[in-house]
Amino acid sequence: MSNENATLVALIGRPNVGKSTLFNRMVKRRDALVDPTPGVTRDRHYARVAWEEHPFVLVDTGGIDDEDDTITSHIRNQALQAIEEADVIFFLMDGREGLTPSDHEIVDILRRSEKKVFYIVNKIDSPDIEDRLLAPFWELGVDKLWALSGDHGYGYATLMEGLLPFLGRSDLAIELPENTMRIAFLGRPNVGKSSLVNSIIGQERMVVSNIAGTTRDSVDTLVSRDQYTYLLIDTAGIRRRGKTTDKLEKFSVLKALKAIGRCDIALVVLDAEEGITEQDTKVISYTQDQGRALIVLINKWDLIKEDKKRQQQLLLEVELALKFIPFAPVLKVSALTGTGIKRLFPEIGRVYRQFHQRFPTAVLNRLLAEAVARHEPPYYHGRRLKFYYTAQLGTAPPLFAVISNDPKGIHFSYQRYLTNCFREGLGLNQVPVRLLFRERSGRKK
Ligand code: GDP
Ligand code: GDP
Repeated sequence: MSNENATLVALIGRPNVGKSTLFNRMVKRRDALVDPTPGVTRDRHYARVAWEEHPFVLVDTGGIDDEDDTITSHIRNQALQAIEEADVIFFLMDGREGLTPSDHEIVDILRRSEKKVFYIVNKIDSPDIEDRLLAPFWELGVDKLWALSGDHGYGYATLMEGLLPFLGRSDLAIELPENTMRIAFLGRPNVGKSSLVNSIIGQERMVVSNIAGTTRDSVDTLVSRDQYTYLLIDTAGIRRRGKTTDKLEKFSVLKALKAIGRCDIALVVLDAEEGITEQDTKVISYTQDQGRALIVLINKWDLIKEDKKRQQQLLLEVELALKFIPFAPVLKVSALTGTGIKRLFPEIGRVYRQFHQRFPTAVLNRLLAEAVARHEPPYYHGRRLKFYYTAQLGTAPPLFAVISNDPKGIHFSYQRYLTNCFREGLGLNQVPVRLLFRERSGRKK
């Protein structure tokens, strides 16, 4: 049994208080981890991380939404968004600059929320200045202040120990049967996510389990079909259950991220009539940043069934949006008429198997040797790159370590070449594949 409910931890605070520095420390960014899919690993403002094996999703809200005019309203919005959607809030203040009026304002807002908030005074680089830098912040009247140096690490372990009790807990605490395929329905409001879930449950002779649950952000339905079980995560669900007062539900990045964080396969649902929007593209790239499998569903196909020109135009749009993710299956469906729903589960099954597949090391090593023989790596600083061996580090997504004499010297295009060799050679044609280039340990250059 597994329990996969990642807590969402949000970093908020004024610009320059050190959010991204702390983010990087928590993520322990390893530069050697290369995802040679261009356009995918840009600036990351969120990540799946773990502390002592407790997984959580970390979001730097300051990096996500930059549409506001003034700084104060910007961080106020960050705070409101975090209060609504995060489980735990890290509110960072700048110990070197001291307390500012906008810190005061945000603390007032945060204090009225029921969320767990850590009030963090950052840039306290050593214990000897802690008392002095912390002093002005007691004026805020909060119970506890966390002294931290996101940059140097002072106070970091204490902070993370403090966080630990809040990880791995969320509103939904059901135990899933082993090998449950977790499928998240993502997309803008009204594209038909809930209709699809209903249509699937109705049409596919699913047995709906009575342990379906509800998180604050989604309605989860555990279903089984043949010998398989699926957790269907409907990110639109909540609205449906409440009064319909908030018809104008906003598309929520955090909600999408949270669902992505706990699924195997992200189903990004598009509206055939409306086509693909920037938000859709964003969600698609988030799924890849988090290394999820992706299936794109073009819903409401019934509306453009007769319009060949529109169909062509739409498929072209989708293809462009998936330029860097060509392996993602695209299905045309209609929740209304049931078109395409039957093909969905075989596709999910194929994608899931690839996503979780393991390969014998001998097969991988042969593949690597052949790939290198077929296309020799270029010289780097006057010496030939050597590849020694490879091994699978994990699944979901399939992750392989490739050991060489000089990982830094492997050109991007060669990394991509090798990734493609792995993808093709292993038949992983529908899921993301990651290669991690590493130096042989225990040896001098
Ligand atoms: P953000 O805008 O909140 O994401 O802040 P950044 O992480 O980009 O940091 C802003 C500046 O503060 C940078 O120059 C960092 O080097 C510096 N900084 C961040 N954390 C610390 C810290 O713990 N100690 C000190 N002395 N400087 C820090
Ligand atoms: P959600 O907000 O993404 O969950 O979207 P809903 O499932 O609530 O659907 C939004 C609207 O689209 C509803 O009025 C549905 O009846 C309609 N709808 C959903 N799927 C289809 C479809 O395949 N074809 C058509 N024509 N309408 C659909």
